[in-house]
Amino acid sequence: MFCYALEKGINFFDTAELYRNYDHFRAFFQQIDRQNVFWASKCYAYDRETAKRSLALALDGAGTDYLDFFMLHEQESEHTLRGHAQAIDYFMEMKAQGAIRHFGISTHFVAGAIAAAQDERIEAVHPIINLKGIGIADGTRQDMEAAIRQLRQSGKFIYSMKALGGGHLLNQYPQALEYALKLDVDAIAIGMQSSEEVDHNLAAFQGQIDPEPVQKQRQLVIDDWCIGCGRCAERCQQKAITIRHGKAVVSPERCVLCSYCVEACPEFCIKVI
Ligand code: SF4
Ligand code: SF4
Repeated sequence: MFCYALEKGINFFDTAELYRNYDHFRAFFQQIDRQNVFWASKCYAYDRETAKRSLALALDGAGTDYLDFFMLHEQESEHTLRGHAQAIDYFMEMKAQGAIRHFGISTHFVAGAIAAAQDERIEAVHPIINLKGIGIADGTRQDMEAAIRQLRQSGKFIYSMKALGGGHLLNQYPQALEYALKLDVDAIAIGMQSSEEVDHNLAAFQGQIDPEPVQKQRQLVIDDWCIGCGRCAERCQQKAITIRHGKAVVSPERCVLCSYCVEACPEFCIKVI
């Protein structure tokens, strides 16, 4: 999939430690000239030790000696940035040594985007934004648009997240993509699972938007062996999980398929398929 996408002109690839797919990037990088792609990943490091571990995991896992972008995942505001100060200091040191080309954050929060606009250490921002504002945790689509304008004015690299609202906008695919393409951002992250989806999205990016999406509707599945501990519900910013009769139950209309709950589960019973 990666090789096919690169061949077709996609040269920006986004992942996260959470997704546990660094070995896929290793296989990809072995087959291409690494300098031809921009590679972004994110982690939840909060102090020096966890930052060191996350960076080593990414570089060793993917078999490369640098990340184009290394981001702190799910930053909410200036306060969470302050709470991650040690990790940021470490990443700044590693940036000076060339292991990280650009440091950034991903965020579902307007306050996170605004904090990033005001922070000189942050060069890249991955904010959630889509036609209906689905998944924005602390405001409206318009609030996030205003924050994105601030990011633009402060010279940040911006790549948008969840253009299709975690699948909720598949029934408005042309409008959702048109909206995403009109935003003043530098790149758009869209999950794709087949070469057909690559072709389809590339055609759309070139102005030929097919009204019918080829993306399959994805869903969150919770296996039977759930013990009802509730950690996934605590982790979900969308309040999409409740515990009923000792088991976790997801509300598909609230879930944006961000996968954040997956890692919270000690029993490994949550999957996005
Ligand atoms: S994937 Fe999990 S954390 Fe994300 S919105 Fe859905 S239930 Fe919540
Ligand atoms: S974290 Fe896992 S085991 Fe705990 S309630 Fe959620 S799905 Fe069930």
